[in-house]
Amino acid sequence: MPAGVLSNPIEYLKGVGPQKADLLKKELGIFTFEDLLNHFPYRHIDKTKIHTVRELHPEMDFAQVAGTLQDYEITGTKSGKRLVATLRDNSDLLELVWFQGIPWIQKLLQRGQKYLVFGRISFFGGKPQMAHPEIEIIRAEEPLRKDFLEPVYSTTEKLKSKQLGSRQIMKLMRSLTDLLKPSDIPEFMPPSVIKTYQLTDRYSAYRKIHFPSSLAEYEEALRRFKFEELFLTQLKLALIRSSRLRLHNGIIFQRVGELFHSFYHHHLPFTLTEAQKKVIKEIRSDTMKGIQMNRLLQGDVGSGKTIVALLVMLLAADNGYQSCLMAPTEILAQQHFANITRMLSSLPVNVGLLTGSAKLSERKKLLDELERGELHMLIGTHALIEDAVKFHKLGLVIIDEQHRFGVAQRARLWKKSEQPPHVLVMTATPIPRTLAMTVYGDLDCSILDELPPGRQKITTVHRPDTHRSQVMNFIRQEIDNGRQAYIIFPLIEESETLDYENLMKGYENVKAYFPEPRYRISVVHGRQPAEQREVNMKRFAAGDTQIMVSTTVIEVGVDVPNATIMVIESAEKFGLSQLHQLRGRVGRGNEKSYCILMTAPEIGKEARERIKIMTSTNSGFEIAEKDLELRGPGEIEGTKQSGILNFKVANLVKDKDWLERAKDTAVVLVEKDPELNFPEHQALKHLLFSKKDKIGWSKIS
Ligand code: ADP
Ligand code: MG
Repeated sequence: MPAGVLSNPIEYLKGVGPQKADLLKKELGIFTFEDLLNHFPYRHIDKTKIHTVRELHPEMDFAQVAGTLQDYEITGTKSGKRLVATLRDNSDLLELVWFQGIPWIQKLLQRGQKYLVFGRISFFGGKPQMAHPEIEIIRAEEPLRKDFLEPVYSTTEKLKSKQLGSRQIMKLMRSLTDLLKPSDIPEFMPPSVIKTYQLTDRYSAYRKIHFPSSLAEYEEALRRFKFEELFLTQLKLALIRSSRLRLHNGIIFQRVGELFHSFYHHHLPFTLTEAQKKVIKEIRSDTMKGIQMNRLLQGDVGSGKTIVALLVMLLAADNGYQSCLMAPTEILAQQHFANITRMLSSLPVNVGLLTGSAKLSERKKLLDELERGELHMLIGTHALIEDAVKFHKLGLVIIDEQHRFGVAQRARLWKKSEQPPHVLVMTATPIPRTLAMTVYGDLDCSILDELPPGRQKITTVHRPDTHRSQVMNFIRQEIDNGRQAYIIFPLIEESETLDYENLMKGYENVKAYFPEPRYRISVVHGRQPAEQREVNMKRFAAGDTQIMVSTTVIEVGVDVPNATIMVIESAEKFGLSQLHQLRGRVGRGNEKSYCILMTAPEIGKEARERIKIMTSTNSGFEIAEKDLELRGPGEIEGTKQSGILNFKVANLVKDKDWLERAKDTAVVLVEKDPELNFPEHQALKHLLFSKKDKIGWSKIS
């Protein structure tokens, strides 16, 4: 964008002095004219209409009424003090109430005077009332303004106190939009796109989003900005994908060889589910095409992603390539290593484990073997990314539980090979399609939508704290039948000390119900040294202890099929996807499993909603959709940090259809003009590559 009037510092705007400029910068991040212009109102107050009191009804949100002040009085004292006024129009009476700023309002009120009031309508005993209305004297000589949708801007207490409330921001916006000409806000959308979707041009859209003359006009402007936002994101993803496909030759796994066949036919501990077979076929076909595979494998907890990973790693080994499997925690990496070495014990495959806690000498030996190509598979944590880790011939990278890894980390792994290795990203946090399209828009997607046979539905119930002894009795019964139980306490990020005390109190409590030596309990928490944590986990996994009391450190990936009870304490403090992940720790064997959500007797509305969802479905995908609806995309596990979902106007839940259109449009555009060389794409290209981007796209490609 040419450095035009929009890049002017905000203090150049009429009405903004150095002091106000300073505040706008600090409080709202508004540095330039452009920043101000992009400070969109979050709603408009409809002042195009004046209602009579008779017309008011409970479904109305806000309304505007004109009438004569009949009377007012001040009642109560101190915090109970309030000013109640009666406004009369020619239909009925309206009560106005103030609890604050009473002296100031009182000065404004005069019996017999005409006023225009605006505010939220509520009804008490069938009578309409407005609390803290905006109020304005109607002077006979001024005509009533009836044609106005007033924009409402977010502001802060500090700004309000310094004459920068919504009204004042509106005035600044008015003087800004008045001075801007169409040439100051040039169009960058290709004409064909504008035409297809009948988008408002950029200049008009900015005017209309702030000062529409009707709600329809506002909607039109909003639609343009939503589309623009979604389209630009999708366009970037399409460009990344396209350049990856054009610029790199993919490694070809020519054949399915001895290792794969031998394992598949003789060592597979169970029959694969249809879903597992389908996904392996998809991957097989990807790796023969000569382009780099970038695939996301989504599968609910327990759907059996590990075996898929193993089979693909065998495929790589059959073709003379090394592979690595990266897990988000040490415990999980160890578990994968143990499982995989066990399953491969009779095959000539060398598997290594590399984690942060590996001893220096072991580490060196391992890295040497890796570089010489003697290791076929390397399993580990973040440690795999380090520069010291050099492969002889890396052909496949698998990342488990993707939500813990950033896009940039993914990229670092595939730079470990001259020819970029195939990448398989596995996640147990199901992501609604719309999110996947945006967060993983550059990946192909496979889904394991079937659980291995023999799994019983986990029964989930909600129990208030007051029922604790019944819950404990139930656990005892299960344990006496040979089962094991998890009891999980929440992590409250703000205070590690509090968490710890909370957990320890809980532990004492559990111990009182389950005395030693008859019962044995493992405690695991973040303050323990890694080795101790490990010992405790292992004892539980081996059945030495029957109860695991823990904070959410076990959230990811542990597999103890004999554990059939998951008790989640203070369940109201957990998010949906976390609850679902935790629940996935049980129901892994053939015994009936239970998840018990304990909460305080009284919980908030949203927490109640979450608990209701948990008790009504076992499907991770359904839960992910609900989570998205309840919390909005910015809060979904693992996407928070990426910034990619911080849309300003678009909403991935409500604007699904537009997202699809934006994606289609972007894909078609990139197919035709992969480097944005067409004249009609120059403005777009300039925009994408010149702007300092908060998402950091450069790291991806
Ligand atoms: P996740 O997808 O959560 O990583 P895992 O790979 O840990 O799931 O598998 C969960 C459990 O299911 C493991 O104990 C695994 O051995 C078992 N499993 C996986 N696939 C099958 C199958 N097709 N039939 C029976 N059991 C299976
Ligand atoms: Mg797993």
